[in-house]
Amino acid sequence: MTKFYHDEDADLSVLKNKIIAVIGYGNQGRAQALNMRDSGLNVIIGNIKDSYWELAEADGFEVYPIKEAAKRADIIFFLIPDELMPQVYEKEIRSELSKGKVLNFASGYNIAFGLIKPPKNIDVVMLAPRMIGKFVRELFVKGEGYPSFIAVENDASGKAKKIVLALAKAIGSTRAGVLEVTMAQEAYMDLFSEQGSGPAIGRILMAAFQIQVDAGLPPEAVLVELYMSGELGLVFQMFAETGTSGQMGLHSQTSQYGSLSRTLTLNIDPIVEHLKKVFEEIKNGSFAEEWKKEQEAGYPKFKQLKELPKLNPLAPYEKNVIEGLRRKRSEESA
Ligand code: NDP
Repeated sequence: MTKFYHDEDADLSVLKNKIIAVIGYGNQGRAQALNMRDSGLNVIIGNIKDSYWELAEADGFEVYPIKEAAKRADIIFFLIPDELMPQVYEKEIRSELSKGKVLNFASGYNIAFGLIKPPKNIDVVMLAPRMIGKFVRELFVKGEGYPSFIAVENDASGKAKKIVLALAKAIGSTRAGVLEVTMAQEAYMDLFSEQGSGPAIGRILMAAFQIQVDAGLPPEAVLVELYMSGELGLVFQMFAETGTSGQMGLHSQTSQYGSLSRTLTLNIDPIVEHLKKVFEEIKNGSFAEEWKKEQEAGYPKFKQLKELPKLNPLAPYEKNVIEGLRRKRSEESA
């Protein structure tokens, strides 16, 4: 079984006297920087001089231009959007990667697809929270944890794993549990959730909506039943806490019989074929290549795709439900 690493497996003393530069004070950057400072580490920020810079200063950090922060640091957290990293790496980071430094990513993307190729005389690690930045901070403050993946891509110092485990402890992740993977594995899993399982669930919910509305059921009520009551979210929460089988007991006998019998008769083959293709395109690098070309061309397809949510047939009904349920709540609290 894959090992889960916890607080007792990590030792913060390996980070003593190290300067940690968090490059990018965004979702992950701010949360991780604040958590590490609260864990007693010496954290500085590297950012473009704009509102994020001001926010970091207001939070009490020393803030530097990216190149300067990378130069001062022993450990560099590279926390800007993945698609922008290769250019920023070339311009601001690469020249500052002298022997003995540590370069840390929160995603395996750029290493997995060969878009960044760090020198061999530094440690290259990954600490990738499975949590959005807001909750990386909020859970830490509450004394709780959240899972992360860690990876050691290059171990020049011989201490890279100890270092990344200590960093995971400092951001609060070993409180819950940390799993070791490779950066490529992290990238495949992350992209597949975004491109495979996530959209498949979304499309099935849309189809379920359409079937019921075509049969004459009221659209807002269908949406409340499907996901807008929040019950589906809680069922997924129970998947996380008790497993998919474990949560079955929370449902009625009718629900259990119906779910299990219809799961067996569902023909999943065409969806599986699609998902396999999506996975293959991730793994063989063709998605990364397509996305790189899209950026180089000025995002023509992405601009069109971003118009799609405006055509979403569910959107007007979702708006009604949001307004309806909000009105009810505000009436209750009034
Ligand atoms: P954000 O979009 O929140 O990052 C914004 C930061 O990037 C800001 O500091 C911004 O500075 C900086 N930035 C944007 N453009 C540039 C540029 N051209 N040059 C220099 N800096 C720039 O990123 P996230 O925190 O979402 O993601 C960071 C990393 O964390 C990624 O690798 C991502 O995959 C990973 N990750 C993200 C998760 C999430 O929940 N969002 C979850 C787990 C991992 P400014 O705007 O001031 O220029």
